[in-house]
Formats: sequence, C-alpha cells, structure tokens
Amino acid sequence: MIAGPDFLWAIDGSQGPAPAKAFIAASKQATGKEFGRLLLTHHHGDHTGGLQFFPHAEVWSHPYCREEVLKRFPPRQKCGLRRRRASGHLRASQGRRAILTFKDDLTVFVGNIEVQFKYAGTCHTWGDMMAYLPKQKILFAVT
Ligand SMILES: [Zn+2]
Repeated sequence: MIAGPDFLWAIDGSQGPAPAKAFIAASKQATGKEFGRLLLTHHHGDHTGGLQFFPHAEVWSHPYCREEVLKRFPPRQKCGLRRRRASGHLRASQGRRAILTFKDDLTVFVGNIEVQFKYAGTCHTWGDMMAYLPKQKILFAVT
C-alpha cells in the first residue's frame, strides 16, 4: 500500500475476501484513508480475488491484464442471456469505475512519493507490471 495525501494506492487486489478485508482494515487503521487507486501487477486470481472490496478504487493495469480479466469474467449481459455471479473481477471490469491501461513504464507521484510502474515484458504473464519506489528502495514485484 502506498499512502498519498488524499487516498491510498493498493498494489494488487489481494487473493480473496478475507485477506482483502484484513488488508483494507489495517490500512485504514494505520492511515485513516480509503483506497482510491489500485495497480494490478497481473491478472491471476491471487492478485485480483479481492477486487470487490475496493469499490471506489480506480484500477490501473497493462492492457493484457485487463483483457484476461474480461475474458474470465465478462461484463453482465442484458436480460435473456446467462448471467455470471458478481465477483471482484466482474465488478472491476464493468466500467463502474475507471480502468486505465498502459503498456510501457510510467512514473506517477503519489503526493511526494515517486512511483515508477515498470513493464516487466513477457515474464510471469504477457502483461506484468511492477511498482518501484526509488527513494524508499521498495519494489512491488510480480509473483
Ligand atoms: Zn501469477
């Protein structure tokens, strides 16, 4: 978690309900802030299984990650078509919140914290991103 002046930034959406709830509660207790953004390092369930617990977070990812999430959990269809149960993946992909994708390295400032998002190339998947905080020498890597 990266704490900015106005909101928190999560790296990944946790692996499921229990760890996501615990992570969110501990983060809020430590900072008094809510999550406003979330970077997905990749699409696997252990990184996206708790997305439904970040309902107001804008999701950022590599386009491949987004495509894979949408394939696995397509948006709900209108009446007459089969519906899937709501899940974090599904909710994250339905446009209820902004989803920003990017393919290359990107540097953002969360308050005065420099965060470098780095495209890892074809690594664990084809859409792996890492987050690096150079001043703090912290790397959020894909696993
Ligand atoms: Zn993985």
